[in-house]
Amino acid sequence: MNNTWIFDLDGTLVDKGIYAKIFPVIIQALKDQKEVSQEKIDETIAEVGEDTWSICHRLDALDMYYEILLGYIEDGELIPGTLEVLQKLKTKGTKIILASNSHRRTIEMHLLKHDIAKYFDIIWGNEDAGDKKTDSYWDQLKMTANLKEPTVVSDDLRDIEQAKKRGWKTIHLGTDVITLKDIKFEED
Ligand SMILES: [Mg+2]
Repeated sequence: MNNTWIFDLDGTLVDKGIYAKIFPVIIQALKDQKEVSQEKIDETIAEVGEDTWSICHRLDALDMYYEILLGYIEDGELIPGTLEVLQKLKTKGTKIILASNSHRRTIEMHLLKHDIAKYFDIIWGNEDAGDKKTDSYWDQLKMTANLKEPTVVSDDLRDIEQAKKRGWKTIHLGTDVITLKDIKFEED
């Protein structure tokens, strides 16, 4: 029987270190390129948190944000084992879903860079559910994809907990397996 696997993106398939790396770069660029004062930056962070997308969105600097992010994504690597796992599942006829907190434009930059869009039947991001990975995000994905008993693969315990409370199967990277390469498939 064909089943469904759901993959998180950041820290599961691609290096999530990018976001920590770009934080100071974005803040500096807001000052240098957009002439935003430190006071305004502090005020914005106090309002929206330390998420660089939200900060730039609030300061009308998303063009600059994506330009900087693209440079880091271009230099980024896939997490080892990603291609092998996706290819293996695809060969078995598994439905593969990407479930990310990121915005579609960011997701597409990653997929294009690594040429992996072709593996996914559904790409589910922030805009699709109108929110980050809340109950509603997962409920809407479940309904849209008609999910029965999928397997969720993620480095994030919150994804694993969301899956478990729905009775789904889970693979918590770093806990259940060390890396994607350690995932065992049924016929192995
Ligand atoms: Mg993650």
